[in-house]
Amino acid sequence: MSDTIHRVNHTIKQRRLQVLRVTELTPRMRRITLGSPELAGFTSLGSDDHIKLLFALTPEQQQAIDARDLGRDGGARPTMREYTPRRIDLQANELDIDFVLHGDGPASTWAAQATPGQTLDIAGPRASMVVPDIFDSYLLVGDETAIPAIARRLEELPTGRQVLAVIQVEDEQERQPLPSKAQVEVIWVRRHEEDLLDRVRHLALPAGRLYGWIALERTLTRQAKALLLEKGVPEDALKAAAYWRVDGSADDE
Ligand SMILES: Cc1cc2nc3c(=O)[nH]c(=O)nc-3n(C[C@H](O)[C@H](O)[C@H](O)COP(=O)(O)OP(=O)(O)OC[C@H]3O[C@@H](n4cnc5c(N)ncnc54)[C@H](O)[C@@H]3O)c2cc1C
Repeated sequence: MSDTIHRVNHTIKQRRLQVLRVTELTPRMRRITLGSPELAGFTSLGSDDHIKLLFALTPEQQQAIDARDLGRDGGARPTMREYTPRRIDLQANELDIDFVLHGDGPASTWAAQATPGQTLDIAGPRASMVVPDIFDSYLLVGDETAIPAIARRLEELPTGRQVLAVIQVEDEQERQPLPSKAQVEVIWVRRHEEDLLDRVRHLALPAGRLYGWIALERTLTRQAKALLLEKGVPEDALKAAAYWRVDGSADDE
């Protein structure tokens, strides 16, 4: 087993899944449980892996999805959005995805209306970033979109590790239980009442060899990353990702 952070590539496969169940986690977060024998072989080794959800806004895009042809150029390429595989159960052929219901947008709109029996096509993950158990402590900074990845990491960490999670949410009702064997402190930051960057600026970093992880809106991600670097988190133990953009749709890469 490698003792460095490393990437594992996967063969990209498109899968058509059925909605099995819908669970309201909080007023703004819905868990959609999807199922299909097509999940056989689904591999997700990293807690912050992502899959692409495929949406058709035109009949041509639907044709591309039906033809399982994601390589098409121009308008016929499906509209894609990135989501975290929150829970995978290959015995039951089930996959959970937790959606923030933020308003208009192909993914959020779909999730808000999803009912059992509907289908959703997914592709990926293309790769997993594996963070082996070589760190003493973790600093995880995110918003609601990052909760699935944070929750997965916390579930996977062993006892004896220390975690400080700073999570920006809309309000108190968006807090979620985050079970872990590790020793976890969560600071919930209410979006309209507290300044997230201020909280990050004044954090006392957990002791020992630290891994830092940031997933926020694009501008906030950049600002939070600069703060953590200033505070001495080593760049090779810091991952910062833009999970969404306030100024427009996510990239359809
Ligand atoms: C690696 C990765 C993993 C992710 N995992 C998850 C996940 O598990 N669950 C999840 O809910 N999201 C997750 N996201 C974020 C999600 O991909 C984006 O929020 C995406 O933009 C939603 O697509 P949409 O079609 O609903 O809206 P878009 O069409 O992309 O955007 C429409 C409008 O909504 C705004 N918007 C988009 N997202 C938000 C938001 N969260 N809050 C407020 N306004 C928003 C945009 O600024 C835009 O104005 C992840 C992103 C990445 C990169």
